[in-house]
Formats: sequence, structure tokens, C-alpha cells
Amino acid sequence: MGASIRTIATPEDLTAEIRYRPSIAAQRLVRARDMTCRFLGCDHPAEYADLDHTVPYGRPGGLTHPGNIATLCRKHHLLKTFWVGEGGWSELQLDDGTIVWTSPSGLKHRAPPGSRIYFPNWDPTTPLPDTPTPVTEPTPGRDLRMPTRRRTRAQQRAATIAAERRRNHEDRLAQCTAPF
Ligand SMILES: [Zn+2]
Repeated sequence: MGASIRTIATPEDLTAEIRYRPSIAAQRLVRARDMTCRFLGCDHPAEYADLDHTVPYGRPGGLTHPGNIATLCRKHHLLKTFWVGEGGWSELQLDDGTIVWTSPSGLKHRAPPGSRIYFPNWDPTTPLPDTPTPVTEPTPGRDLRMPTRRRTRAQQRAATIAAERRRNHEDRLAQCTAPF
């Protein structure tokens, strides 16, 4: 059996979508263009990375379109989601897919998508279409949340000890009632 071949949409075929989740065609284009997580120096494969709106969906310019979407691994997606704004990182996506990251100290770093380096003959330039940002209601639970413990470490330890005591107690009871 040969490998299955998937075609990738040309950037001009893709318009801004009036929804948060990009179409399969847009996802394929972004993953093929990016190749890896787009944070500086990260080589996490794009195939298994999150798709992040560079400008948050629904804000001015926050379109669901490859020109505003890039792959980030879960770790760097969390970093971006929780460490942006004043004193944090910020990013800007250029038409050719390059992301310009600004570090908390104000240094700018250019991160071209992997395909620019490995497939220089393919031009996945995806300028944002001149479409007004759709006005949408925020969908509850759609944003990435910082993972939290359901129990504190102390609660977890207490629960483990209680479960162990319960098992011991049940074992003793079973021994007492076992027929001789
Ligand atoms: Zn990463």
C-alpha cells in the first residue's frame, strides 16, 4: 500500500470563517506551513499541536483564517494564553506566516514557518482578507484553561491514606468472617 496523499488548499481559496474552529482545509494548510510549534526554538510537530488565533477570535483582526492562525504546542499555548500583555510576550503574524515574538524584555525575534526553510519553492503567503471581524458571542469553555489540581496535595495524601485504611479494615473484616 502506498501512502495516502492529501492535497492542501491554496491560500487564495480560503476565506475568513465565521466560527472559532477553522475548517479542515484551513487546518491542513496551517499545519503544513508551520511544520512545528511556532514558539521560538520549539520542535513539537505541528500535526499534534494546538491551533491558536494569533489575535484572539472576535477582536479586531481576530479572524479564523490561516493568516491569523498558527500552531503552538500545549505548553507554549499556555505560555501565550497566560503570559501576554504588559510584562509578558506578544506576537504579530506577518502575511508570509512569520511570527514576530516580542519577549518580556522587549527583544523582537522573527520566527518564519518551517516550510519557508524546508520548502522554499512553496509560497503559503496568507494575507488576512479584508473582511470585517465577525461579531460573535463568546462560547463558554472554548478558551484554553490553565490545568488545575482537583485536590490539593494534602487532600490527595489524606484521601490515599483513608482509602488504604478502608481496604485494611475490609481485609480484617473478611478474615474475621472467613469460615475455618
Ligand atoms: Zn512549543
